[in-house]
This record gives sequence, C-alpha cells and structure tokens, in this order.
Amino acid sequence: MKPNTFRAHAHELVDWMADFLEQLEEHRVVPETKPGDIRAQLPSSAPQQGEPFSQIFADFQSTILPGMTLWNHPGWFAYFPANHSPPSILAEMLMATLGAQCMSWQTSPAATELEQVVMQWLRELLQLPETFVGTIQDTASSSTLVALLSARERVTSFQFGQKGPTGLDDKALCVYASKETHSSIDKAVKLAGIGLDHLRHVETDADFALCPEALEQAIREDLQRGHRPFCVVATVGTTSSSALDPLPAIGAICQKYDLWLHVDAAYAGTAAILPEKRALLDGIEYADSFVFNPHKWMFTNFDCSAYFVKDVDLLLRTFQTNPEYLKTEYDPQVVNFRDWGIPLGRRFRALKLWFVMRHYGVEGLQDLIRQHIRWAGELVTWIEADPDFECLAPAPLGLVCFRYHPAGCDDEVMLDRYNQTLLERINATGSCHLTHTRLGGKYTIRLCVGQLYTQREHVVKAWELCKQIVQEGLE
Ligand SMILES: *Cc1c(COP(=O)(O)O)cnc(C)c1O
Repeated sequence: MKPNTFRAHAHELVDWMADFLEQLEEHRVVPETKPGDIRAQLPSSAPQQGEPFSQIFADFQSTILPGMTLWNHPGWFAYFPANHSPPSILAEMLMATLGAQCMSWQTSPAATELEQVVMQWLRELLQLPETFVGTIQDTASSSTLVALLSARERVTSFQFGQKGPTGLDDKALCVYASKETHSSIDKAVKLAGIGLDHLRHVETDADFALCPEALEQAIREDLQRGHRPFCVVATVGTTSSSALDPLPAIGAICQKYDLWLHVDAAYAGTAAILPEKRALLDGIEYADSFVFNPHKWMFTNFDCSAYFVKDVDLLLRTFQTNPEYLKTEYDPQVVNFRDWGIPLGRRFRALKLWFVMRHYGVEGLQDLIRQHIRWAGELVTWIEADPDFECLAPAPLGLVCFRYHPAGCDDEVMLDRYNQTLLERINATGSCHLTHTRLGGKYTIRLCVGQLYTQREHVVKAWELCKQIVQEGLE
C-alpha cells in the first residue's frame, strides 16, 4: 500500500470510527448471531491475489461488525467493563503505526522509561507503598501467574537450584484463596504445577468475603499434614459480587506464617484513586504483589494490566534469562521489562495509559468513577424500595447483584427460573446487556455500571426494563 493510498484509507477509517462511536446506541449490544453464522460467510482459504482495501473494509462492515458484541455500548452492564476511550484508541493507532517491540530498554528506550513513569504515577494515585515497583502485563491472569511463580521461587529457590528441583523435600506447596476467587487463580495454580488439589478455596462470610479464621485454620491443617503453605491470593472486588477480602487480617496471617500475599483487584483497584474509596486497599502494605486492570475500569483499551511487586530481585531471579543475542551494552544500567514477566515480546502499552491519564487528568478519572458508583448506589435504593426485588450482596462499587423476588414466593427453584427468564428477556431487547452469577446458590442478576459512555439515563432505562418485563409476566 502506497503512503498516499494509506493516507486516504486511514482518513476514511477515522471518519467511520468517529461516526460509529457517535451512533453506538443504534446498534444492539449483543448481536443475534448464531454459532457458525459468520464463518459461513467467509471463504475457507486465503485469497491468492491481493484484494482492494475498499472491498476488505466493506466486508468488515457487512460481515464482521454485525457479529460483534459491543463492549463499549452505553448499555453495557455485563461482566466487568473492558473499557476504551478516544485517547486510548488514538494511542493504539500510534502504537500500531510504530510497530514497537518493547522487550528491552534498547529495543524501545522511550517505551521502557514511559512505562516506569506511568507505573509510578499509578502507584502514587493508588497510594501504594513506595517499596512497590510496577510493570505492565497483558492481563490479570498473567500477573497472578507471575505472582505465583515468584512466590514459589521464594520458598523453593527453584531457579537457583540450591535445594534441587523439588526444593522442599517433597513437601506439597499450598495456595489459599476464597471460594469466590477468580478462575485465573485456579488456572495459575494449574500452570505453575502446584496442582489444583493444593489450592484451598477458603470459606467466605455472609458478604462473600474471605474469612480470616477459616484461612488460618486451613493453613494450620496443611502444616499438620506436613505441607508447605506458601501463598495467599486475596481479592479486592470479587468477580461475582465485588466482595472485599479483609486485607489487614489476611496480611497479618501471611506475616505470621511467612506466606506470599498476592492481591487481585483486577476490577476494583481503579476505585482506589478516589480518596473516599482508598480504604479498599487498607492493608496493601502486607502484599508482596498487587494487580489491577486499567483495561477494566480506567478507560484504557484491552490489554493493560498494572502489576506491582515489592521484591524486584526475586522477580528477576524467577524470570530472567540472558541469551547472547539479546545482550546490549546498556544492560547493567537499565530495566529490561522482558525479565519481569512471561513473554519476551511486549507491546507499547504504557502509551495508551499515558494518553488516558493526561487526557482526563486525575480529577477527570475520579469524576467518572464517582459517577458510576453513585448511579450504582441509586439503583440499589430503587431495588431496596421495591417489594418485588432484592439485592443479594453489598454493592460497594459499580456492581449491583440483585434478583426478582415477589413477595410471598420462597420457592428457590421458581425464583431461579424467574430470574433466568428475566435476564434472557432483558438481553433479548438488545438495548442493554447484563450477566448472571450464583450467590449462596441463588441465581443472581449482575448489573455493573462502569462503561465510559453509560449515563444515568441508561441505568434508569435498564431498571425500568426489568420492572416492565416482570409486570408483563415471567411465566
Ligand atoms: C477480570 C478479573 C480477572 C481476570 O482479568 P484478565 O485481565 O482478563 O486476566 C482476575 N481477577 C478478577 C477479580 C477479575 O475481576
């Protein structure tokens, strides 16, 4: 593609992008596509000859777009948000244009140094301890695996080979997390070779937060069995209900038994930029590692996961390699982020975070997050005031967990069915999208306010829709 042709297509695309963002609400949030629909419209082999870009773009619009779920629709209340924002999109365009490969300082000096700076900005914003050093990982899942591998290294000195390959005379390493913990902890335990039978899913309290007493008891039981407890994963903002595990109590237990504390605040971490919500992270000084996702609630395109650790030497000991072909003369003086995580190659993710933080400013970000929390709080008051609905968990942030529960009906099987039908009908409208979970065995509707373009009116509309569907009857 010649530069002038590129220029023309790029202008055309940017115009399309701006129109698309302006008209998001004219689309369904989730398409009515059925499995196989899109594949059936696509040739099974790559074209032998190149095709005109205008044709490719036309097919994008006619074939691909209608099969996309629009995570940035203002009616997006599902899962947790995977936000973007105009400044973040622009940064992604520049990243793609540079095609930067940011594995080491030498391969992209500005990318490395900007990453150091934005991570320091984030550390300050969240008031994390000054001993924390940050790096950007692709996802919270990877960050948690990195944490677990570092924690294992700490107790086994596996990479140092001091104690042989098992390190611990065949003692089984044990990990602790709550019953409400994210599936990425299970995955990390599998990948790290710890074995799922050595992951303890500790009891939670009435608010779905980890019980410190149950944690300590599980640790003691494993010690009695001759196992080696080595890591606790606490969640600040669980995925089902945004429950907040009590960090100070968990941290004290970790200190007492000399365990690594990893804090997973993938969704909720962003809220700690609000002074009135910073208490979420009280006790974070106990943590050895901490992760939150700017790609969830901080308006930064997927992927961008902020990972902080206390002991960088240990991190390096776990991940560092030093092949001849990657050596540079600056290695003794610089940070090479390839040694801070799993992949060698790294995208220039710091750029979009920098654009976002500068575009909105701290106060702009705070205003947005505050609004989301306020609207979620309003929704809670409407639910609680309605005799036919109930909240099923505290809603400290943007996530509201509720169900339809008509007065007098206590048949849990019926209630599950009603709420499943209600959710299906809400989503079938295409105007908003909600998802579900189970809390205490009960089928629960989740509505998370956190999408950049969501306004109060969209929350009102979703609530009105719930009530209207119920009034029409769920039989
Ligand atoms: C979303 C989420 C994750 C996983 O995030 P990825 O970045 O997609 O890996 C992990 N933990 C919690 C609590 C989450 O909400």
